[in-house]
Amino acid sequence: MRKIIIIGFDGLSYSKIIKYNCKELTLKEFGQININDFSKLITPTIWGSFITGKQQKFPSLTKMIPIKGKEKKDRILKIVQKIYPQTIDLRNRATAYPKLYDKEDLEGETIFDKFKSISIKVPGYDELQCTIPPYVITNFKCFSEEYYLDEVNKNIWWRLKKLKEANKLKNIELIMVHFHKWDLLQHLYFNNKKKEAELYKEANAIAKKLNNMFQHEKLLFLSDHGLDKGIHTYDAFYSSNFISFKKQPKITDFYKKIINT
Ligand SMILES: [Zn+2]
Repeated sequence: MRKIIIIGFDGLSYSKIIKYNCKELTLKEFGQININDFSKLITPTIWGSFITGKQQKFPSLTKMIPIKGKEKKDRILKIVQKIYPQTIDLRNRATAYPKLYDKEDLEGETIFDKFKSISIKVPGYDELQCTIPPYVITNFKCFSEEYYLDEVNKNIWWRLKKLKEANKLKNIELIMVHFHKWDLLQHLYFNNKKKEAELYKEANAIAKKLNNMFQHEKLLFLSDHGLDKGIHTYDAFYSSNFISFKKQPKITDFYKKIINT
């Protein structure tokens, strides 16, 4: 049986994949996803909607859990320290702990309930997303850009390694991995077209690797939204060798296609 492999490229734009001629990202069917039902384009909300086929209602990237009492504060700060080891200033100033949305917050079953599956850091589903948000750099100046890039790249290689390991396991029917780099760095580089071109070139190179690795499997690449001048846009893409739609799909239309494949 062919496995289903889903690769989330956060923040890659349909129109820029065409603009930068990213051939490896355009499989048998390539198109734009309709995400117009979302009044705000928030990453875990859109991915949560993709994996459930139901439009989720997370109001922001994270929910803020107020820190109350010393014992609780110490416990939470320990967790924050573990995730962001260098945010000492931020930790001392913290009055609330940001918690990312995860499967506890989702409404409905997910594609992961329907198959013997593995999810690797899917926003809105998995617990921790260890990449540091760019606002930590721009607002708090806790890290250098160099340190940040190193962290983001380490994260990519870690996720690719997990994907390879998952692929070796027996009887796995579905694997989904999420790559956050393209969202994070397009925010960081804002309107730098040279950096943008490099980011798309790199996404294309990774897609090439994945196309080789999974040439005999069912493959779906997609993004949750596009990005332009540092702002999320309604320009999400999908690309697949096994899914086809008669008209432009909504992000919630993929669920049925995937579970019925
Ligand atoms: Zn996103």
